[in-house]
Amino acid sequence: MDGGDAMIDRSERKEKAKILSNQYRSLFENAVEGIYRTTPSGRYLNANQALARIYGYDNPKELIVGLTDIAHGLYVHPEDRDRFKHLLDQDQVVRNFEAQVYRKTGEIIWIAENARVVRDDDGSVICYEGTVQDITERKRAEERLRLAATVYENVGEAIIVTDADDVVTAINPAFSRMTGFSVDQVVGMASRFVADEINDPKLVAEAWAHARSGDTWHGELWGRRANGDVFPASVALTGVQGENGEVSSFVMVASDVTRRKMDEQRIRFHARHDALTKLANRHTVMEALSDAIIRAEHEGNRLALLFLDVNRFKDVNDSFGHAAGDELLKQVARRLKGCVRASDIIGRLGGDEFVVALPSIADVQGAMACVEKVLYAFSEPFSLPEQELYASTSIGVALYPDHADCAETLLSHADAAMYHAKASGNPYRFYDNDMDRQAVERVNLENDLRHALANGDFRLHYQPKVEGISRRVVAAEALIRWTHPTRGNVSPALFIPVAERAGLIGAIGDWALMEACRQMRQWLDLGVDFGCVSVNLSPAQFHDATLKHKVERALQQYNLPASLLELEITETMMATEVDRAIAILGELGQMGVRLAIDDFGTGYSSLAYLKLFPVNVLKIDRAFIKELPGNAKDGAIVSSISTLAHNLGFEVIAEGVETAAQAGFLLTKGVTLMQGFLYSPAVAPDAFAGLVQNGV
Ligand code: C2E
Ligand code: CA
Ligand code: CA
Repeated sequence: MDGGDAMIDRSERKEKAKILSNQYRSLFENAVEGIYRTTPSGRYLNANQALARIYGYDNPKELIVGLTDIAHGLYVHPEDRDRFKHLLDQDQVVRNFEAQVYRKTGEIIWIAENARVVRDDDGSVICYEGTVQDITERKRAEERLRLAATVYENVGEAIIVTDADDVVTAINPAFSRMTGFSVDQVVGMASRFVADEINDPKLVAEAWAHARSGDTWHGELWGRRANGDVFPASVALTGVQGENGEVSSFVMVASDVTRRKMDEQRIRFHARHDALTKLANRHTVMEALSDAIIRAEHEGNRLALLFLDVNRFKDVNDSFGHAAGDELLKQVARRLKGCVRASDIIGRLGGDEFVVALPSIADVQGAMACVEKVLYAFSEPFSLPEQELYASTSIGVALYPDHADCAETLLSHADAAMYHAKASGNPYRFYDNDMDRQAVERVNLENDLRHALANGDFRLHYQPKVEGISRRVVAAEALIRWTHPTRGNVSPALFIPVAERAGLIGAIGDWALMEACRQMRQWLDLGVDFGCVSVNLSPAQFHDATLKHKVERALQQYNLPASLLELEITETMMATEVDRAIAILGELGQMGVRLAIDDFGTGYSSLAYLKLFPVNVLKIDRAFIKELPGNAKDGAIVSSISTLAHNLGFEVIAEGVETAAQAGFLLTKGVTLMQGFLYSPAVAPDAFAGLVQNGV
């Protein structure tokens, strides 16, 4: 029984072993992993189909026959085999041994091996057996990842990864460098990189919609730095799909394009500006001028174009060299810039020609203000490398819509006006046409006034003030006279207001004061003896802080007693700044200079104030005299002024007395001093001396 049982057992065991062996065989043959046995020296004993396939052989047999030196035939680095063996010697097993091997075709792949040493009962090595996996794909993926990681760490572009909810999950070092945000400041927070306050919300929405659809959006957005600065960034935004195919994160790669933008701007700037002076060039000026004209037309504005060049610029170039010429032009440009407002257009047309366009001026005066500023800007010398140099300019001015309605015509008119200015030796000229004749005349008049002042073309004539009954000359009023080279005598009633507006009155008035004193001294020396000389003061002179000083100097220079000088001021001048006027007149009065209120009755009289001023004379305005004695109202006014004057202790004089009837009426009202054509107009000094000596 025992034996039989044993028999059965053995055969059963054999059967089982066979089944097992068959199962192993099947496993061996059908395994997806390569399975092998090799000799320690490097020959294959067994190999399965999978191994053959991994190594590129048709079948295991071909592999076993074909690959007889594993170290050199298989491994890309034969020393890997030594390492492998060493590990087996040491540990009996090797796990996950990775190596690069050649396939039959010579292609290199990555494998991972698990192996063990098979020994017989007495411990000597029978073979190695092991499994092989082709891990090439995984290796490549790892390599890609490593590469990506290296790129991520080292690129110059900022990379910022956000999840679907815009929470930052990662940033690279470049991001920190670019924005100043540290990892701690951004990771785990909502991304603040995109500067929402200035980006176009439509553009931002479009970028994310694009990325969400799985695409990459390329464009420019404003990024934000940690310090709050914004900067232009070139951005690639990619939506990354998760396992479920939905976009679960966004990768933004951004570069700071501030520099590029600046370069672009520079390039654009160069195309539109003059390289030397950095002013707009001709092309840009004409474009801007056309635009400005369209705007002016739309808004009903006036526009002025100043065309100027540097006088004798060629001489500068020829005598001092081109470098000096260039430097002069640069400095001219700089000074011109100082004369204009930001909204004005200023450019260099080439050579020494510049233009300034004033896009919105109310009237000619607006253009004049700029012309004056420009002229003034040339009054200081220019410092060139070798020397200081005075340069002057000629300016031509044309107005839209008065002179032209398009940029080209306006420019050519301004150009023509400039040539006229140059030809006539005037610093500036307005383009002349009939539309604007008066305004043009006025500015040209100003120009001529400057010349007259410089040339000493003014004269003083003297009109006697007489004692009505005796017709004795008791005083003289100095009245300025100007003979214009082409227009003949120009009335001071016309040019004094122009001079006031042009800021010339100070100089003209100073001259008149001096000249009257000089003349007075001469008369005294000649024995032409009468009362005092009166000089008219304009408001600008009255408000000149140095008036007292000037008066003193004039008196001193000609050794004239103060009482022989009278100053005529108008009521309005006193009324504007009463306190100041009191102070000024007080000082003058103290000096002994006489004061007359000119044109009395026309301004808004503040009779109460009159008491406060050290006034000597009230001069009844011509307007009240004209219709005497017929006009009862004027008669009443004259009568009450006379009464008032006497009551306040002022002398009173009537001006513009033309008829004996007027004189007669005035005498009945107590006005004894008179001035007017009835006696004499203003005459030259010699003639005046005759009047004094022979009577009027
Ligand atoms: P004003 O001070 O009222 O001077 C009197 C003006 O009346 C003078 O005109 C004179 O020639 C004129 N006139 C004199 N008698 C008669 C007359 O019987 N009938 C008429 N219709 N007119 C007469 P003119 O010389 O043309 O001066 C005009 C104005 O110019 C002056 O008016 C004065 O305001 C200003 N002016 C003249 N010379 C100077 C000056 O040196 N400095 C300043 N600041 N202003 C001056
Ligand atoms: Ca006067
Ligand atoms: Ca007067």
